[in-house]
Formats: sequence, structure tokens, C-alpha cells
Amino acid sequence: MAKEVVCRDAGYDCDFVIRSENEDELIEFVQTHAKETHDTEMSSADIEGAWTTV
Ligand SMILES: [Zn+2]
Repeated sequence: MAKEVVCRDAGYDCDFVIRSENEDELIEFVQTHAKETHDTEMSSADIEGAWTTV
């Protein structure tokens, strides 16, 4: 099972979508994207609350 995070679902006008079967990797990618693109710090708990299983 993979997890998917869709940036638009978090309220951003952004086409970033990431999908991974590795939760640690997914969290790291989303944190990097949030920081670099939206200047936002996301905790792993925030990300776990935002992902969907696909
Ligand atoms: Zn984004």
C-alpha cells in the first residue's frame, strides 16, 4: 500500500503530489517541499494527518 499527499488538498494552489510506499521517505519529501515552496514547517504528525492510502 502506498501513501499519497496532495498539496492542493491542504489548501495550496499547487500541483505537487507525492506518492510513496516508504512513510519516512514520504514525510521527508513533503517536509522539503513545504519548506522550499511554501515556507511552512510540517511535523510528521501533520503529514500523517494529511496523507491518504492509495
Ligand atoms: Zn505545494
